[in-house]
Amino acid sequence: MMFFARERMTEEAPVYTAKSREGRFRLYYPDFKNKALTFSYDDGQIFDRRLVEIFNRYGLKATFHLNSGTLGTDGFIKKEELPQLYAGHEIACHGVYHEFPTHLAKEKLVWEFLQDRKNLESWTGRIVRGCSYAFGEYNDQVVDMLRDLGFLYSRTVDSTGGFCVPADFLRWTPTCHHNDAFGKLAEEFLHQPDYRYLTLFYVWGHSFEFERENTWEDMEAFCEKVHGQEDVWYTTNIDYVNYMNAARSLAFSADGSRVQNLSSVAVYAELNGERVIL
Ligand SMILES: [Zn+2]
Repeated sequence: MMFFARERMTEEAPVYTAKSREGRFRLYYPDFKNKALTFSYDDGQIFDRRLVEIFNRYGLKATFHLNSGTLGTDGFIKKEELPQLYAGHEIACHGVYHEFPTHLAKEKLVWEFLQDRKNLESWTGRIVRGCSYAFGEYNDQVVDMLRDLGFLYSRTVDSTGGFCVPADFLRWTPTCHHNDAFGKLAEEFLHQPDYRYLTLFYVWGHSFEFERENTWEDMEAFCEKVHGQEDVWYTTNIDYVNYMNAARSLAFSADGSRVQNLSSVAVYAELNGERVIL
């Protein structure tokens, strides 16, 4: 009976069989889009309100990394605001008290991030599995700990200046800080050569920087420029991770002609030249 039950579970996910056995596979983003854009903003200061309003106006998606221990203090978002303010965007961790992760003893490290998850989850009813490193600080111990605590990704501040899909989501290197996004990177992203596909533009920053550096208009102009593009998937950090994890977990036959998606996330691809939604 046990074997019978296992077999049925496996068979419930449909197997797609390609018309030819060439074994060619090309992944797309959802709705067969070719580029992705995501934003990541840290610390949860009150200037997030204006930033969210801009993102919403242009149909852009973002992740907000919050310190649950500072929410509600002077200059920061209140916890009661979270569900409504960040509706349609991701809420993620940044450590309860914005401690240097690399300075903490193991049990404090666990507390800083697990308690942050618990606080944000209890205030929003969401499941929070994203993170960014306070001060951009991390090491192997911090990465291993976050993985053990159920985090799927954590963002660094090590900008790449490029549009590559990250190899390791727990050491997620963004494209650039927003100040570096306003110039030629936006143009490069929008006008890519044909051989490039499945690119990711990842912009990070703090909303208080727009206020402090008087760059709100630059950010608005950037959002205006990149919004509404037919071939761009506008996504939060966690939706991006969930999609790529589903794509990377597809089960292929050894000859590449059959493929099965065991996750509940629809994966968009081309199999031997034919578009399929797995
Ligand atoms: Zn921070």
